[in-house]
Amino acid sequence: MKAAVVREFGAPLVIEERPDPEPGPGQVRIRVEASGLCHTDIHAAHGDWPVKPTPPFVPGHEGVGLVEALGDGVTHLSLGQRVAVPWLGKACGRCEHCLSGWETLCESQVNTGYGCDGAYAEKMLAWADFAQPVPREIAPLEAAPLTCAGVTTYKALKVADVRPSQLVAISGVGGLGHLAVQYAKIAGATVAAIDVTDEKLELATRLGADLVIDARTENVGEALKRHGGAHAALALAVDDTAFEAVNSGLRRGGKLVMVALPAHGTVRVPIFDTVLNGTSVIGSIVGTRQDLAEVFRLHAAGRTEVVHETRTLASVNDCIDEVLRGEVKARIVFDLDTGR
Ligand code: NAD
Ligand code: ZN
Ligand code: ZN
Repeated sequence: MKAAVVREFGAPLVIEERPDPEPGPGQVRIRVEASGLCHTDIHAAHGDWPVKPTPPFVPGHEGVGLVEALGDGVTHLSLGQRVAVPWLGKACGRCEHCLSGWETLCESQVNTGYGCDGAYAEKMLAWADFAQPVPREIAPLEAAPLTCAGVTTYKALKVADVRPSQLVAISGVGGLGHLAVQYAKIAGATVAAIDVTDEKLELATRLGADLVIDARTENVGEALKRHGGAHAALALAVDDTAFEAVNSGLRRGGKLVMVALPAHGTVRVPIFDTVLNGTSVIGSIVGTRQDLAEVFRLHAAGRTEVVHETRTLASVNDCIDEVLRGEVKARIVFDLDTGR
């Protein structure tokens, strides 16, 4: 099978021929049909974060495909079943976090495409308990972006406890943001979308944003304040200054939800304003299996649109450059069914 491998941080990925992986106890092998390119995969390939993966590794945590081999003890998945493999590859199931519905905070978790090989491959392994069944109504190329971009933003809005009548700012309308706009609308909020390209701002409007703010030409904080300030702001742009800009546009009691993970990211939060205005800064990391099931249910019901461009895995390095140049409309998905 073919896989795109990070051999060295910052170097182009290498397409390699590898033997099919054998599932261990509790695992399944999946024939990957579709695999999304999350900006996190670029951070992984560049070694951007304090906790780094160990090359060589295969990135990718928006994998969708068909189960083709069952490891010992797997009884609830069947051969030929379509599943999605998210960032949360495995958690312990026993700790305080796992038992309280916060498996995404488990300290023993293994992350797909980071702590184990991921979905930039024709075949991959997954722990059966964390492989999410994909409803029949959802095509693989659409299921892939929902598996990280979808669940992450859906969860971030839950964390912010967004209510109808609230103003929600979505900073960055990329892979994550284009779905965040839609979930915020479904939650009943008024949505302000912020980006730095005309195409992204037009996309946000088409997907339901009530107002758009061009961070190149407008002061984001002042623009949000003109509308009363945001009750919640999702920081999805890979840029420290975008976090500060949107934080300055919160209304009293508002919440900044940090989601993007720029390399060496540090944000200056003014103490006086935060205290006097009673604002909060919250981190939010992906979502649980239950959150992903809800995201799939919404899409199967026709409530969300996944905007994606389809590519071959062989073009992975060009695709990464396109994402970094901000040229991708929302999400690139590798089509491994036809793209071999
Ligand atoms: P993306 O590249 O598809 O989207 C980023 C968007 O931000 C683009 O539309 C870009 O034009 C826009 N942008 C750039 N500068 C901006 C600015 N100054 N103001 C407003 N918008 C600006 O990336 P993505 O795949 O959506 O991922 C975004 C970030 O979220 C990455 O850092 C990724 O690692 C992280 N992420 C975090 C989690 C989590 O669980 N916390 C999950 C998935 C991804
Ligand atoms: Zn745990
Ligand atoms: Zn991701």
